Amino acid sequence: MSDYPVPPTRTVRHQPSRAQIIEVDIAVVGAGISGISAALEAARLGRRVALIDAGQQLGGQSTGSMLGTFCGFYSNGPEPYRVVYGIVDAMFAHLKKADAFHLRRGRNSYIPLYQEQALVRWIEQAVHAAGIQVLLGATLLQARRDGGRIVALDIATRFGPVEVHAEGFVDASGDAALSYLAGFDCREPVSPIMGTLMFTLEGFDEAAALQLDRWAVQKRLAETGGRYGLVRRDGFVFAFPGKGHATVNMTHVKTPLDPEGYATAQAEGRAQADRVVDFLRGEYPAAFATARVRQYGFLGIRQTRWIVARHSLQIDEVRQGLKPDDAILRCSWPVELHDRPEDVHWEEFGDDHLHYVPFRAMVPQQADNLVAAGRCIDGDPAALSSVRVMGPCVAMGAAAAQALDLAGAGSVSQIDIAALQLRLRDNLERRDRD
Ligand SMILES: Cc1cc2nc3c(=O)[nH]c(=O)nc-3n(C[C@H](O)[C@H](O)[C@H](O)COP(=O)(O)OP(=O)(O)OC[C@H]3O[C@@H](n4cnc5c(N)ncnc54)[C@H](O)[C@@H]3O)c2cc1C
Repeated sequence: MSDYPVPPTRTVRHQPSRAQIIEVDIAVVGAGISGISAALEAARLGRRVALIDAGQQLGGQSTGSMLGTFCGFYSNGPEPYRVVYGIVDAMFAHLKKADAFHLRRGRNSYIPLYQEQALVRWIEQAVHAAGIQVLLGATLLQARRDGGRIVALDIATRFGPVEVHAEGFVDASGDAALSYLAGFDCREPVSPIMGTLMFTLEGFDEAAALQLDRWAVQKRLAETGGRYGLVRRDGFVFAFPGKGHATVNMTHVKTPLDPEGYATAQAEGRAQADRVVDFLRGEYPAAFATARVRQYGFLGIRQTRWIVARHSLQIDEVRQGLKPDDAILRCSWPVELHDRPEDVHWEEFGDDHLHYVPFRAMVPQQADNLVAAGRCIDGDPAALSSVRVMGPCVAMGAAAAQALDLAGAGSVSQIDIAALQLRLRDNLERRDRD
């Protein structure tokens, strides 16, 4: 018989109690790449920050959906320069040091590959080092408003309710959850913009996979995809050189805004992913005969619901590269519209093309202390598709934090736009060649 002491227990009983209260200067809802950028930028300004996310880890889709590449961080042309700064300098430096970053040319620009596990560790370390109060598994249920000001957030966690009070709020929820729950008008596309369940592959012949011509693969997909039960007839596989794994973007599923629909769509996306593996094995045995899924991503959601702002970015402004007086970022990413199950509508731009996001597209009409950042800012579906990739999302997060800092107890609609642009000048002017 062991005489090892059994740890003691005590009896507890739930006592209905008030919510835990958190008081900060700036509360950010959504810890995807835009919320991470907003939170870190606000903390750097000396603000007390809370970062709230319903998920179990930081990074949102950038770490959970197996995206694999950073888009919208560079200009177009033969020698692209970087167009987004702020957190990007430290983030890229960390990924390079961890051998988790690979600069690759694509779509007339650079599209770096990255490894999700290295990114999530950088985000965790950066956020905790900045003293940000992080709430994970924390779902926003309700936003209380006094006129144009949000005053408090009611949040549910597995450990009980939490109430967050702040002077300023960032809606980085992707689905405009904060703006919607606060009662501000939002937009939804009349027919759905498709999401994608992405995944990584292992067990394939990397040298043979790198030999494949991506346009020939697309053609084969269009010709034979139906035989494998595939919904989408375009897409791509890209191997991370030397790592033995590849990212696959070849599925299309609807992404409804209800919990049961979400779960069903995720299962459907994974079923499509399995059929994509069958296609790759069947059509390209030299490269993929023994390929298998290494990791399924969480359902990738593109454009579901977004704010009605003071200005809605229009596709003609994007095509013409019009620079508005209140521009807060530049970008050259193509129009990438997933509005049909079978394929993607792409419109790529020339070498010198840049388009811009105006600050007015980030502020819900009538809101005083709320700024949206990321894929839920205002635009028509085509315009939005060209600015919702991660580069512009980072720049929008920075703009949201700086705007709320300038507004203080006042209204973001009355801030000095020239002062905001001065703070954001790197994202408007700097041209580093990495
Ligand atoms: C399949 C797919 C592939 C893509 N590929 C690329 C790519 O290769 N490169 C690239 O740069 N971009 C890519 N994009 C686009 C880009 O990834 C996203 O648009 C971008 O990551 C959005 O970032 P975000 O911070 O706005 O939102 P998200 O990353 O979606 O983060 C929103 C966060 O808000 C949280 N949230 C939502 N509602 C609530 C609530 N009520 N309470 C609490 N938290 C809440 C969510 O849990 C989530 O973590 C892709 C998108 C998809 C869907």
